[in-house]
Amino acid sequence: MDHPFDCLVIGAGMAGAICARELAERGRKKVLVLERRNHVGGNAYDCFDQTGVLIHQYGPHIFHTNDKRVFDFLSRFTHWRSYEHQVVANIPSQEGRLELPVPFNLISMEVVFGKEKAASLAKRLIAAYGREKKVTILELRQNPDPDIADLARYVYEHVFVHYTMKQWGQRPEEIDPNTTARVPVFLSEDSRYFQDVYQGMPQEGYTPMFEKLLDHPDITLELGTDAEKRLTLEEARVLLDGRPFHGTVIYTGAADELFSCKYGRLPYRTLDFRFETHPADFWQSHGTVNYTVDQDYTRITEFKYLTGQELPGVTTIMKEYSRAYTGAEGEVPYYAIINEENNALYGRYKAEADRFPQLHLLGRLAEYKYYNMDAIAARALALCDDLLK
Ligand code: FAD
Ligand code: UDP
Repeated sequence: MDHPFDCLVIGAGMAGAICARELAERGRKKVLVLERRNHVGGNAYDCFDQTGVLIHQYGPHIFHTNDKRVFDFLSRFTHWRSYEHQVVANIPSQEGRLELPVPFNLISMEVVFGKEKAASLAKRLIAAYGREKKVTILELRQNPDPDIADLARYVYEHVFVHYTMKQWGQRPEEIDPNTTARVPVFLSEDSRYFQDVYQGMPQEGYTPMFEKLLDHPDITLELGTDAEKRLTLEEARVLLDGRPFHGTVIYTGAADELFSCKYGRLPYRTLDFRFETHPADFWQSHGTVNYTVDQDYTRITEFKYLTGQELPGVTTIMKEYSRAYTGAEGEVPYYAIINEENNALYGRYKAEADRFPQLHLLGRLAEYKYYNMDAIAARALALCDDLLK
């Protein structure tokens, strides 16, 4: 008996949900989606906790993009609440704890050095790089001007080195430079974390957006189903439930797991999240506060800032603790550790996958990349353009 589906999508996160929708709607395909977790949305999943606060179970997710196609596409499945994320670094000082905008900007400079010194530093920086320019900390550390070098040392020490050690177990100069470049020194008074044209949060939350994305008569969704138990890759054949499957397969899980980690595990960082509920309207000053000098956790997020939920007298915060991923039951691989050696290992799994012309690896896990949601959405739309040509 032939399978009743034209396409198989593994994972119901951003990559899988968009592909399923596009293939079903634009391609008129019958699509089976298998999701290991008991919910949709991948790491962008949100839900209400016991006290009724809307939380992000797998870390704070703020939507931002310059890609109109992505924004317009997702806007079919959600209204947006306008939200521009702001982050501060909370650091100890002689006068008690200071809070400075991150990315470190002209306002952060005033908080640290006072108006006069900050103005003179700003002048030199703007002469060197230009107003409203973004300069990575690694670039700034190369500047020979002694005053700029002092500033670079301050920022490195108070914003980057300890946070990066906590997050990656390595120093900023040892990790992929694109990672710290995500949070450059910004020669501006703009204290938003992102400068994208479109920024916001799904009005009702991410999960309802994903549910709408997947709500199509030609999409069959099976939750709590690990593809490992249903899918077999042998020689150049794909089997679904033991029978040959000839349709398109889009796999959005970890590439090593697809091949039983036969070349060894791809290294990742995982996170432990600790949630706390407090009897207050708000608990901290901003949506996210980064602990860039001390504490074992990297940052604390207070969800009510992000979601705009109005719920007096109660608020939930979340602390993030980073550590090496071991592959143990229940652990989630959150961040690929991008370097030459790991990319080469990934390349071996990708080459295995390429032996199956019907199989496509797509997503933050499957491509072993540090992608934001909008980048994944753009890649999912582009892959479907190709498949539906
Ligand atoms: P995922 O969301 O990981 O989805 C993959 C899905 O596949 C999962 O649901 C998984 O259970 C399922 N799966 C895996 N293997 C199998 C299998 N064998 N069988 C069945 N199902 C399987 N991006 C932003 O744009 N803004 C942010 O503020 C932001 N914050 C983030 C914070 C944290 C802590 C993290 C970790 C990421 C953040 N991101 C953010 C990135 C965002 O999470 C990703 O870009 C996005 O979720 C990637 O979607 P995806 O579909 O590729 O992967
Ligand atoms: N970073 C840092 N201090 C900060 C913020 C970021 O050192 O206050 C570095 C750190 O290495 C981090 C990277 O910049 O992993 C990227 O930060 P981002 O906030 O983009 O990380 P994400 O939200 O993806 O965890």
